Formats: sequence, structure tokens, C-alpha cells
Amino acid sequence: MSFLEIHHLTKIYPKSEHLPPALNDVSLKIENRGLVFVTGKSGSGKSTFLNLIGGLDSITKGDIVLKGRKYSSYKEKDFNNLRKNEIGFVFQDFSLIDNLSVFENIKLAATIKDEVVDKNKINAAIEEVGLKGYENHLTKNLSAGQRQRVAIARAIIKAPEILLCDEPTGNLDFVTSHEVLQIIKKISKHSLVILVSHNIEDAYSFADRIIELENGNLKADIVLKNKELIIGDTVYISGLDFLSKNNIDNINQGIKKGSVKNIKSRKELFVPYVPKDETYERKTYSNRHISFKKSFELMNKLLKRQFFKIGLFAFVGALLSSMFAVCYMFVNYTPEIVYSQVATQAKYVSNIFRKMTQDTYYPTGVELFSNKDLKIINSTVPGAKYNTLVNTHPFYSDSCSFDNNSYPVYDGSTISSFFSVLDRSLYAKECVGVLVTDEAYVKQRYNLSEITYLALADEIKPEGVYVTDFVVDQYNQRKGLSNTYSDYVGQLSLKLNNTISVNRNYVNGIIQTDYKEKFKPVIEELDRLRETYPGGLKTYQETSEFRQYLFDIYSYYLCGYSFNNSFLNDYQNSDTRNYVKANNAVYTINYNEEEVAIHDFRNNAIGNPGVTSKFYSIADYESGSTTQTVYFPVNILNSIFVSTLTPEQWTAALGNDAKIKINIYDTVTGKVKFEKSYKLVVLGVNNLFMSSQDVIADVSKAVVGYSDIVFTNTNTVRSVFAKIAHKGYISFNISPLFPKHITTGVEMYVNLFKILLAIALIALLAVVAFVSYNNVRRFTYEIGVTKSLGASLRDVFKIFSLQELYLLITTTIMAIAGTYIATYLSNYVLKSTFNAGRISLYDINILIVDYRVLLVVVGIIIVTSVLAMIIPFIHMKRLKPINILKSKY
Ligand code: ADP
Ligand code: MG
Repeated sequence: MSFLEIHHLTKIYPKSEHLPPALNDVSLKIENRGLVFVTGKSGSGKSTFLNLIGGLDSITKGDIVLKGRKYSSYKEKDFNNLRKNEIGFVFQDFSLIDNLSVFENIKLAATIKDEVVDKNKINAAIEEVGLKGYENHLTKNLSAGQRQRVAIARAIIKAPEILLCDEPTGNLDFVTSHEVLQIIKKISKHSLVILVSHNIEDAYSFADRIIELENGNLKADIVLKNKELIIGDTVYISGLDFLSKNNIDNINQGIKKGSVKNIKSRKELFVPYVPKDETYERKTYSNRHISFKKSFELMNKLLKRQFFKIGLFAFVGALLSSMFAVCYMFVNYTPEIVYSQVATQAKYVSNIFRKMTQDTYYPTGVELFSNKDLKIINSTVPGAKYNTLVNTHPFYSDSCSFDNNSYPVYDGSTISSFFSVLDRSLYAKECVGVLVTDEAYVKQRYNLSEITYLALADEIKPEGVYVTDFVVDQYNQRKGLSNTYSDYVGQLSLKLNNTISVNRNYVNGIIQTDYKEKFKPVIEELDRLRETYPGGLKTYQETSEFRQYLFDIYSYYLCGYSFNNSFLNDYQNSDTRNYVKANNAVYTINYNEEEVAIHDFRNNAIGNPGVTSKFYSIADYESGSTTQTVYFPVNILNSIFVSTLTPEQWTAALGNDAKIKINIYDTVTGKVKFEKSYKLVVLGVNNLFMSSQDVIADVSKAVVGYSDIVFTNTNTVRSVFAKIAHKGYISFNISPLFPKHITTGVEMYVNLFKILLAIALIALLAVVAFVSYNNVRRFTYEIGVTKSLGASLRDVFKIFSLQELYLLITTTIMAIAGTYIATYLSNYVLKSTFNAGRISLYDINILIVDYRVLLVVVGIIIVTSVLAMIIPFIHMKRLKPINILKSKY
């Protein structure tokens, strides 16, 4: 039994069946040591022969038997182990990984073979091939000869039993060739080396045995019978240049002595090979897979200088993902998104209810409550506190607002003229100027830890009010007075001039607010701007700081506070009326050169539309009391029921337990989202809905789509309005304006976004698939090298798919970040687009990133890239290692 037996080996390449076989019925026996040259002309089948022995390609017919085991019984795993442990390769083109250093190339083979790598062994191998000092050089920077030495070192580090060399000197010059051959010759002393070469001279010089192929057939098989240089009187030479100094000395001595008479070619020393029985060692090998840690290290080395590329691809992927996400959000936009945000913006909660009625009350303006209304309110929830609120927000006034249409223009002369401009706009808002509240509210309002009174009246009256230092200072300034704070307390005072009109109330005290400190920078800035831009502050007025400033000023104008609810009662009794009456004159102001009559509370007359004054909202901010009441405007009721009843008639008709049911529908699904009944109170005022904060809180949580207001006491309604042929109730649809506005806007472009979505999706799929596919494909050569070193497909997958992980992680993170950024930018653009006038009140994001969008994006990235990455691996599974190696990328 020989170490390596080749039986009738035949190879016919696929698609070359019509040609003579590349190898044709070759049978041989080879011993476990020595340098076997395989020679023959180009195309004679030498490489085929070598590849079959190395298990790099499949055998068509015949078999190879290594140490008694037939290749035909080998599985994929056995071939991997064969290449990993028993066979080393040296190829003509070196098959090195260029991005790795000399040391790392050699280490790769060692790593694939054994998890534990002995550095000393690697250094010894490097020294053996004469590359000491080159350990850290990248192989691509070495000369051809040096690279082949690296390949040899890489092969011998595994201590293989067979070294297969395919034209190892084919790319080398003459001298280098012989240096390399000498190294190989040395290796053949302790293991079998099969070396393919078409150089017959080399064969005679170095070979222990020569196998010659011709057209796939075995032509000759000869063995060196005598290794000596001089035999008898004949010296056997194959080219002097290959001889060592020793050899030459030998010959010269022979010539001197006269013992050498003939020179013959060494060819003469070769005789036909006769197989003999031999004993060989059976080694056992551990066959484990490469660990994740090692594959991770390896991949990192292979990816050197490629991270920029990965980052770039990730960036492109993220860009497309963001585009996709934004389009996706547009296509899936529902008004619910906007409503839910309106609802969560608690600051404006009380506006929601009004906002819903906006279609009907705008643009006629909101009218005031009559005293009757106040009384109704008061009797509905006895003992509850009410805030008379001027608008919730100064920029959301219906008439004298700071919106873009009626912006006060500063003439740039003095700060006080600035205030006067402000006054005119503010006037309507502060015309009541008294808030029934408690100290806690004031502390919160001015961010005070304690309320300090700059002056207090000797007698504190329940109907008296407290004003801020700001009000007094303004009053003094405008009047050119230098009164002290104490001058104003304890009397019906502080009747400011006819543009700033806090009613002439009994002043209980002056509250210290530190407004000077607070406004100092803004006032200074205004002064500065006034000097810089004598023409005015128009530009500055557009800034949010300025708006904030107005808002703050406005807060201070809302200046009178009653800390006692009896103010309200007092206000409503006749005495107070007289008192109010006494101040009626104040209600006439100069507004934009027009005489404007401001509504008098005591009768139901309607003020000049467009110069609204105040809204009442029921806000029992002292929590605990339940005031689940909806105040319904009489004109809306009348419009629903086509009637002309007065509030009293309505109240009588509906009875004490009149209820109103509010249904809120989802505009998209049409399903009822919210449904609850509340106490119904009819107000004499037109158009203005009111509700307790409890109702507002309830409804705002559910606000979506449109609402139906349904009367629940249908019998009462029917009895009163039988003349109207309705089924007992009428449902009244109210569509909020703003979301509708946006929805219409979005709907206009939804098809465009669908197209963009499709484009983004296709581009995203293409980019991710292409990049992932190529990530593996571009390493085909390296994979081939790794496979030739014995790595299994699993090892290869571990190493070369890791980069995909990098790409995935980077792309995913960037895609998520990109989606948020793109959404932010889109919202910014949308807000500026929709922000006309009053809508600017809302800081609403039309697009909201929710987890579903992110899931879709991340899902697309992961699924596509994994699929695209697996394809080359599946393809490789079907390829023989030699083909992977040959298919240079
Ligand atoms: P050598 O190494 O002696 O030059 P090869 O073993 O490479 O010869 O090739 C032997 C024959 O097989 C040649 O005719 C060659 O064209 C053919 N051959 C080699 N590889 C393939 C292949 N992958 N597919 C088809 N034919 C091949
Ligand atoms: Mg060849």
C-alpha cells in the first residue's frame, strides 16, 4: 500500500465533453516523501492533476486513495479537513490576501487550522523562507519572489503531509526561481511535495521523481536512482548555474585528480519508477470551526480602509430610508395625528372646543356674555370659581390679535409710543382686567415664591382688586405722575387713561412682580433697535422673541386680581352695576381712528364685531369640583332647530336635567371614538361654546375627526319643537378647521407622495441589495484563498458576513436618525406653509415618527440585505474551491 495512490484518474470538464479528457486514466503510486515533478506541455493536464489531489475539484472517473482512504468516500467536510490539515498549496499567482501583512497571511492559515496560533512558529516559518524583517509588510508591496516565499511559509505553517505547488516559479526570474526551488527541496526531505513545472531542466536538477503528462495521459514516470553528482568517472550535470559552490568544488577536484572523464546530463540518472510498499504515519487532527472572535478579528483586518465605503453606503441607504419614511408618513397621514397633538398641547386645551365651532363663529367674532349668562353659569355650579379669561393666547384673538394681519406697527420713536401701539391692540383684551382668582394663581403667574405687597389698603374689601406694580408704573409714566404705590390703595382708583383701562376698582393692594428685571434685556434691546433702525422695528416684530415679549407684557396688562369670589357677585348686583356704569365712559376708545363701542355687560347688545373683548371660560382650577357642563350658545341651538327662542325659553323647554351628548367620530373609520353626556345650559350669547374644564379635558383626550352633538333628552326637545319635523334630535356636525385644512393640503399631494414612496422603496431595495451582494462578491478571491486553506463554508460565512453586520448596524442607526431629521425638516416646512394667521398658534407636527414606520424601514433594510448577502454564499456552495479561487472579482 502506498501513501498516495491514483487509480485510473480521469477528468472531463463540464461543457468540454466533446474534447479529449483533461486527464485520461492516469494511475500512479506516490511515496510520502520527496520532490515529485509533474511536467508536460501547457494544457497537458498538470494543474488538473494537482487540483484533484488537493480536493479542489471533482473527479470524473477513477479515484484517489490517500493513506488508504478513497476520495470517493470523502464528504465536503472531509475535503475541508484535508486542505486544512494534510495538504498545503502554493500557486503560480501566490493566492495571497493583499490587504494582509506577511505575518497575517501566514497566521490566517494557522488560524483556520488551529484556534491557538503559535507566533514563534510563524516567525520560524518566515525565517525559513528568508523573509525575516518583512513580517509587517503588506504582501502587495513585496516582489514576486518574496510573495511566493510568503505563500510557501503559509503552506508549511500547517506542517502539511503533502505540499502541492502549481508552477510556483512560473512568475519568477531565474535566480529567484532557484532560491524558491531550494526552499521547496528542503521541505521535500520530510514531506511529499508534488510540483507542477513545465521546466524540464528544473525537474532534472531538483526532482526525486518526474511524472510527465501528455494530453492528459501519463507519458513517463521516472525516478532518480542516484543522488550523487559524480558517479565513477562521470559527472552528471543539469546546467552549471544550478550547482552549489560545493558541487562545483567537487567537480573541479574530480577534474584535477583526473577521475572525472565524462560529463553527462542528470537525465541519465532517472530510471522508470517501480512502486514499493511503505509505512506511513496516521496523524489525527482536530477539526474545529473558526470562532466568532477570530472571524471578527479577521474581518476587521480585511476591512481595513473600507470603513469609509461602508459609511458612505450606509449614508445613501439612510438617505433613501428617510425619504421612504417621510413619504410613508404622508401616504398614511390621518387628521387624527393633528388632533391628538392639539389635544396634548394642554396650553391650548380650552381652545379646542371653540376651535371646533370655528366654521360657524368665524368671522363674525365672538360676543360677550351677558350678566344673565353669568348668572346662569353661577347658578349651574354654585360656589364654583370662575375665571374670566381674556383670550387664552394673545395671538389667537379674533380681532385685535398680533397675527400677521393686524400686527401693531411700532413707529420707532419712543418706547412709550411702542406701548401705545401695544395699547390699542391690547385694549380690547384687558377691558375687564379683573381675574377672580387666588394667590396661588398669582404666584404661579409671576413665578413668585411669596407674594409681596408693595402697598396694602387699610381696609381690604372683598370686591376690591389687587394690581401689579407694572400697571401702576405704566399709569404714572403715561400720566407723568410720580405717585407712590400707597397713593393708589384703599380707594376707587387707578382709572388709567382712556386707552389703558383698568376699571376704577377699589384697590386692595399692589403686587410686586419684578417685571423690570424680567423685561430689562428686552427693553434694552428695543431701545437699541430703535436707535439702529429709526424707521421702525418691523423686522424685529417678526421674531419670536418679540412675540414672546408682547405676550409677557400682555400678561402684565391682565392686571387686576380679585382674590375673593364675592367680587363676581358684587359685580353682578345692582350696586356694582352702577359702579360699572360709572365707568362706562371708559369703554369708548380710539381704535384705528374709529370709534368703537365696547359691549356693556349689562345688556345683551353686541359690541362692534371685530373688536372682541374677552371670553369667559369656566375654569375651576381648584380641582375637585365636578362641573360637567356644556354651555351651548343660543344661536347655534336656534340654527339647529330653526327657531328663534330666547335662552330663557330654551331653558324652560329643556328643563333642569337637560343633557347634551357629545359624540366624537373618527373621520377615517367613522367609528365613535368618544361619547358622553353632560349637563346642558343654554347661553344667551351667540356662537360661543363653553364648557367646564372637565368636559374640555374629556373631549380633548378623544378629539379626532368631527363631533356630533346630540341631545339626549329627546322627549323634551320633541315636545318643544314638534313643529320641526325631526326625529327628536338633530345631530350637528362640526368639523374643525385646521386639521381639515391640512388634510386637504396633504390629500392634494398624496399621489405624488405615493410615487415618491415607490421610487424611494425601489431605490432603497436596489441600493441595499446591491451593496450587500457586492459586499460578499468583492471578497470572492479572499474567500477562495480561505477555502483553499481548508475553511469550511460555515467558517467563510462567519468571516465574510460579519461586515454585513457593520453595514446593517450603521445603516439602521443612520436610517433611524435620518428619519427623525427628515421628519423634523418636513414638519418645519409644513408648519411654515400652513402657518397663516391664527394657525401659528399651534406648534403642531403634521408628521410623527411612530414605531411602525421605523419597523418597516429597518425591516426592509435587514431583510433585503440578508437575502442579498446570502445569494453569493448559496452560489459558492455549488462551486468547487478552484472555481471560487479562479473567478477573480
Ligand atoms: P496544464 O496545467 O498542464 O496547463 P490544465 O490541467 O490546466 O493543463 O488543463 C488541461 C486541459 O483541461 C486543457 O485542455 C484545458 O483547456 C482544460 N481545462 C482546464 N481547466 C478547465 C476548466 N475549468 N474547464 C474546461 N476546461 C478546462
Ligand atoms: Mg497549469
